[in-house]
Amino acid sequence: MRGALGGPGVLLRRLREVMAASISPQERLDRLVVLIAGNLVAEVCSVYVLREDGSLELYATEGLNREAVHLTTMRAGEGLVGLIASEAEALALSDAQAHPAFSYRPETGEEVYRSFLGVPILRGGAVMGVLVIQNRASRIYSEEEIETLQTTAMIMAEMIAAGGLKSLAAPGASIGLDRPIHGVGVSLADGVGLGHAVMHEPRVAISNLIAENPAAEVTRLEAAIGEMRASIDELIERGDVAHTGEHRDVLETFRMFAHDQGWLRRMREVVLTGLTAEAAVERVQSDTRAKMLRQTDPYLRERLHDLDDLANRLLRTLTGKANGVAREDLPENAILVARSMGPAALLDYDRSRLRGLLLEEGGPTSHIAIVARALGIPAVGEVVNATALVQAGDAIIVDGQAGEVQIRPQPDVENAYKDKARLRARKQKQYEKLKEMPAVTRDGLGITLQINAGLIVDMPNITATAASGIGLFRTELQFMVAQHMPTTAEQQALYAAVLDAAEHRPVTFRTLDIGGDKVLPYMERIEEENPALGWRAIRIGLDKPRLLRAQLRAMLRAGAGRDLKIMLPMVATTEEFRRARMILHREQAMLEKQGVAPPRDLRVGVMVEVPSLLFELPEIAREADFLSIGTNDLMQFLFAADRENKRVADRFDPLSVGALRALRSIVDAASEARCPVTVCGEMGGKPLETMALIGLGYRAFSMSAASVGPVKAMLRGLDAGKLRERLEWMLASPEGAVNLRPQLAAFASEFKVPV
Ligand code: PEP
Ligand code: MG
Repeated sequence: MRGALGGPGVLLRRLREVMAASISPQERLDRLVVLIAGNLVAEVCSVYVLREDGSLELYATEGLNREAVHLTTMRAGEGLVGLIASEAEALALSDAQAHPAFSYRPETGEEVYRSFLGVPILRGGAVMGVLVIQNRASRIYSEEEIETLQTTAMIMAEMIAAGGLKSLAAPGASIGLDRPIHGVGVSLADGVGLGHAVMHEPRVAISNLIAENPAAEVTRLEAAIGEMRASIDELIERGDVAHTGEHRDVLETFRMFAHDQGWLRRMREVVLTGLTAEAAVERVQSDTRAKMLRQTDPYLRERLHDLDDLANRLLRTLTGKANGVAREDLPENAILVARSMGPAALLDYDRSRLRGLLLEEGGPTSHIAIVARALGIPAVGEVVNATALVQAGDAIIVDGQAGEVQIRPQPDVENAYKDKARLRARKQKQYEKLKEMPAVTRDGLGITLQINAGLIVDMPNITATAASGIGLFRTELQFMVAQHMPTTAEQQALYAAVLDAAEHRPVTFRTLDIGGDKVLPYMERIEEENPALGWRAIRIGLDKPRLLRAQLRAMLRAGAGRDLKIMLPMVATTEEFRRARMILHREQAMLEKQGVAPPRDLRVGVMVEVPSLLFELPEIAREADFLSIGTNDLMQFLFAADRENKRVADRFDPLSVGALRALRSIVDAASEARCPVTVCGEMGGKPLETMALIGLGYRAFSMSAASVGPVKAMLRGLDAGKLRERLEWMLASPEGAVNLRPQLAAFASEFKVPV
């Protein structure tokens, strides 16, 4: 049987000599292919490098026609080479021409070769090219040969990444990590940010790839694995999970993987091919990444992150490199790039230097998204393989509005975004000017504009927007960003700090709205078929009142001697409101007995967001101290369209006749009962929608801080009386048109209302 000449160790030592020689990049590649072909007793060895357009260009060859170098290209997915690049997996064939993907290229003269072995050139799981050997005779490549070729490919990947091949690319083509990339993800937080990449928990860079002494490397690897296992065991045993920022389940999964025999065996095998321990960890992880990234199963992809974390821990132990970027080293215009990130980690960075956030993970309802929005950092999530595509220092544009990113953008793209950012800044300046102006319509109607908040970092937004208070304080955010259940004392401290920061302005605290899409990491997860319709918010509060009581106590203590507004979410019947209010009164009586001063003025209100309440409006408006309309949930339940499901979320328009009539019935019942009513869902923060709501009779809104400027600009240009008349007419006689958006937009344009 034929095998590698002199074994993999000899090949790697010779490779190292070639890498160290002071020769041109092309010469280096030419020597490498000769060396590999000779060592693996193959007649052909060729290197293909991935280009910007996804095609693969022949960069060097031993055995094929050398004239074809930099001329032969394979389109994405074309031929065996294209197949290896798209699957990111090795391919060994004893009869290559019989394979359905075989594509004949006359210029290379390769028809005379029957056997074919190709491996992807991988770095961090991303394909950078393909390395191929071929033999004239039909033969079966051994496992050892495949392994050796993969190890060699890893060394080439580092050479490509180091930029050594840049100058060789065919005219007009750029390679690997140099090419501009337009990444599509989902918007997590609005805004446009331009800056340079800073990797959060970056991959550990490995400079030493080839082992001097493979036996010593096995010992190093084993020592590092032992150290990693011990540190995980210690973390779990100490029970100090919160302190480490890791969640207990995550650590348990780590422990399981840290003892996974298959994974450890793979790394040992790779060390024995002649790589250093750290290079072996990197190679195995890169292979695993490449395979798992092509999986659609979310469970498997999630496991990839655990494995990535473990591999990174091992690499840090082996290289002695610390993790992350020191706070003081953060550049002025940082775009933070991470696979995933906890909210606490984001809060650790200096906000004034962050221009954007780019994540591989993280949907719009993730906790990191909530914090990014609160901090006003443009953010995009779910960008596949972002951490492998980006290198520290790369220019990046995060377009949080469109949910897109530009990595290493071309100058014209960058200029277009600079224009976009300038336009936003100009608009912001205009809104800034409106700050000191009253929120009054053209015909003299005063409108109350408040903001929604949930974290202490939101509080400066009150003065920044000149809002008259906080119309919705989502208390669950404190619970969502914490590593453990906040104690009553911690809750009280937050509420008191919020009231202090709001100074004399009113704050409406909403009791916990958890369940549904809002999951607490430290609470047992209950599997429900329809979580949005399940056990959530006030339902949990009424069934298990301990949590609700503790929260109400914290609010009452924080509000001692002050004005306090408490609001109950997801109330479906007046009866539920009565029961919750009873619990509140009981807590109040208890605190009074303890000598705690009562609030100066206590108001208890209800979120109107479950449609059943629309049929108890006279009762609820009479009994509650105020109503606040959660249009996000109300519209989801009214139209039976999941607000989190992209397919249906925008299917129905809140400006259609049905929805507007429902909203009118609430404001009418409230005014009949002289019950104050506010709109706190997102509908109240969009200029055209808010205009319609004013037309229906609403006078108070609570919205995200970024919406205050545009809404104020709109209402100051609005003749509310005229709109009311027009809207009444539209609602009475829709003339078959059920969606009034076009007519409302026409009204705005006719009367020059800036929407
Ligand atoms: C709503 O449902 O409109 C609302 C304001 O509450 P949340 O978005 O927190 O459910
Ligand atoms: Mg809601």
